[in-house]
Amino acid sequence: MAKKYDYLIVGAGLFGSVFAYEASKLNKKCLVIDRRDHIGGNIYCENIEGINVHKYGAHIFHTSNKKIWDYINQFATFNRYINSPIANYKGEIYNLPFNMNTFNKLWGVITPQEAKNKIEEQKKEYSINIPKNLEEQAISLVGFDIYEKLIKGYTEKQWGRSTIDLPSFIIKRLPVRFTYDNNYFDDKYQGIPEGGYNIIIEKMLKDVDVKLSTDFFSDREKFEMMADKIVFTGMIDEFYNYKFGLLQYRSLEFKHEILEKENYQGNAVVNYTDRETPYTRIIEHKHFEFGNQEKTVITKEYPSEWKVGDEPYYPVNDDRNSNIFKLYKDLADKEKNVIFGGRLADYKYYDMHHVIYHALEALSREFGSLF
Ligand code: FAD
Ligand code: UDP
Repeated sequence: MAKKYDYLIVGAGLFGSVFAYEASKLNKKCLVIDRRDHIGGNIYCENIEGINVHKYGAHIFHTSNKKIWDYINQFATFNRYINSPIANYKGEIYNLPFNMNTFNKLWGVITPQEAKNKIEEQKKEYSINIPKNLEEQAISLVGFDIYEKLIKGYTEKQWGRSTIDLPSFIIKRLPVRFTYDNNYFDDKYQGIPEGGYNIIIEKMLKDVDVKLSTDFFSDREKFEMMADKIVFTGMIDEFYNYKFGLLQYRSLEFKHEILEKENYQGNAVVNYTDRETPYTRIIEHKHFEFGNQEKTVITKEYPSEWKVGDEPYYPVNDDRNSNIFKLYKDLADKEKNVIFGGRLADYKYYDMHHVIYHALEALSREFGSLF
């Protein structure tokens, strides 16, 4: 008997929404379900006091891939926002990412050569040839002082692990520059969608059946009967009933506050890089869109270890988890009628542009190239 839908898409985040949009354009019948009560997954915004509040943390779109940039620009107009977070270490303010402004404030150096000499000097003391972990990687990139003040405390709070137990790739996300350039990203294109991210997802899902507050696992058999294929963007270990053990994730608690003032911190993102402050950063949302509302909304971000029932935000890609993930991935690769994708099903530290890329790749495998 023909099933009601061609695709059941589990997750109304960016991966699921791109898939649903493109498949629907090809006249495939899709049903998108999400266990949350809204669409958009982690890029969802809520309008509070006329401000688009990034409910699940600061989201800045950035990419160097022109095709992905053109793709996302179909759905929204992007503003000129450039992410330039600052770090607050016990009341001392430093520019991020690590650049000549940071080096000058910390050491008084003025030229790139002076900064390089200083880092080289600090690196020598630790005789690191090939960095084996995040601590060694950080010291060899920026020296001990920056590691101590701007990396160690923040990273240990964020990941709940010592920097010697973390993979070095995490810190390689951040540029190190010997220019006076505070742009957090090296990418060619960057911005925030005017009016927030919801506009994008609403357009993607405009002609698609969507059921919210609906968990795939609440009635798995029923959902599996509804469609020829499943696109699964939830946690891959949950899909397999944790049979090889639980993958670890980092969770976050976001505490939002409305303040009766126009400008709280003068910047969208301020990182608290000491170990003692319990949150990692404070976001002041209006600055993403250069807002001049009378009030302001801020969010403090508190990291925590994930346990079943919590929201999983970051995969912890260390050796233990990579080995377990591989077992799940081997099963996933054998599935004929399930497509896995997105940050949770691929268990990868994807940014939004990666997710779009992988969704278009998955669609290309189904329907022929969309690139
Ligand atoms: P998600 O957005 O997580 O969507 C998956 C959806 O599936 C969720 O809505 C979930 O409720 C649903 N789901 C899961 N299991 C089930 C189930 N069993 N039944 C029904 N529904 C289910 N990227 C950037 O490019 N720039 C940034 O500045 C940036 N900042 C970030 C900050 C934070 C704090 C975090 C956590 C991420 C950030 N990202 C950023 C990454 C970005 O959020 C992701 O790349 C992207 O949103 C992932 O999309 P997704 O569809 O894979 O997953
Ligand atoms: N990081 C740090 N100090 C900072 C900002 C970042 O040590 O002030 C490290 C930390 O380990 C973090 C990683 O760099 O997990 C990547 O930072 P990014 O801002 O890309 O993290 P995300 O926005 O994905 O949470």
